[in-house]
Amino acid sequence: MVVTKNFSPSQLALYTALLVSISVGVCFLFFSIIWWQVLIVTLCVFTCSFFIFREVLRRFIYRKIKLIYKFIYQTKASKREEIYHKYVLPQKSIQEVEDDVQAWAQKRNEELESLRSTEKYRREFLQNFSHEIKTPIFAVQGYLDTLLSGSLEDQELSQKFITKASRNIDRMVHLVSDIDEIARLESGKQSINKQDFIIQDLIKEVFESVQTNDAEKSVNFSIKKGCEAPPVHVFADKEKIRQVLTNLVINAVKYSGASPQVIASVYKPDGARALIEISDTGMGIAEEHLPRIFERFYRTDAGRSRNSGGTGLGLAICKHIIEAHQQAIHIRSKVNVGTTVGFTLQARKD
Ligand code: ADP
Repeated sequence: MVVTKNFSPSQLALYTALLVSISVGVCFLFFSIIWWQVLIVTLCVFTCSFFIFREVLRRFIYRKIKLIYKFIYQTKASKREEIYHKYVLPQKSIQEVEDDVQAWAQKRNEELESLRSTEKYRREFLQNFSHEIKTPIFAVQGYLDTLLSGSLEDQELSQKFITKASRNIDRMVHLVSDIDEIARLESGKQSINKQDFIIQDLIKEVFESVQTNDAEKSVNFSIKKGCEAPPVHVFADKEKIRQVLTNLVINAVKYSGASPQVIASVYKPDGARALIEISDTGMGIAEEHLPRIFERFYRTDAGRSRNSGGTGLGLAICKHIIEAHQQAIHIRSKVNVGTTVGFTLQARKD
């Protein structure tokens, strides 16, 4: 069966010329029964009408299509494209041309979509950044203004205000260095230097460092029973994983009550990967926050109202680091029960 919509201009001209010449030939049979005369007339009509139809199609339809092609490929045609326009394009069926134009439109749509989301991301980033930086800047400004307007004589008050201003400056430094870290991870400029190490040893080191940082709280750090041994060797960037563990352990302490319990677990679900989890028995995170918790600057109301000095970037950094290792990170949590953040790492090939 002939599928009419897939005719190329030459085929279209051929079929039309055939139809016209056969019709003329049949009409001619009424006037002359000399078969060779009928044949010559039919052949002449066929040849002339074929060339006329083909030329008309090329001139009025394919020239316009050529213009569309030039437009969608945007530039002045190169030599190769000229050849394409001259010889290949006229062979294409209208359906193929339609497919090409649709593919072009789809590509443009995707480009537009990506531009829109980059723009949205940029706008959100600026809003979040200015929101986060505003609080410490205004606080420092307030303390300095108060000092300058006469409180400098009061030594005790001066000491108090300067300490507070210094804490806010630390917060700004923290924020800027977190943003810098995210930017480097996103641009792929930060290389991942993988090495073999025992994950339980690193967890113990992180526990010790966080313990000394948080002397006021009586935190109970432990590795889950049965997970301390045998040693699990992983192949990853040790310093980056230290950063991930430190962020998670600090969060576990920060978002828990007076005597937090922080438990680390290490599993080997299969020969290729190790699963590391940091759990706490703290305030937990409401279910509606969980899908967005790894987004930059995202904080739950509890996280904000605590004014814990966090930037809302810690979990986003963890996600970036784990994804740079081509591994996955996840979170489970229940309000007033606790939170578990787990991530996988490549296990050392034994
Ligand atoms: P922050 O610097 O604010 O701690 P994070 O990205 O580390 O930023 O965490 C984002 C938010 O997730 C926090 O503000 C807090 O609301 C919530 N969160 C993170 N870890 C925990 C946890 N272990 N328990 C309860 N809430 C948590």
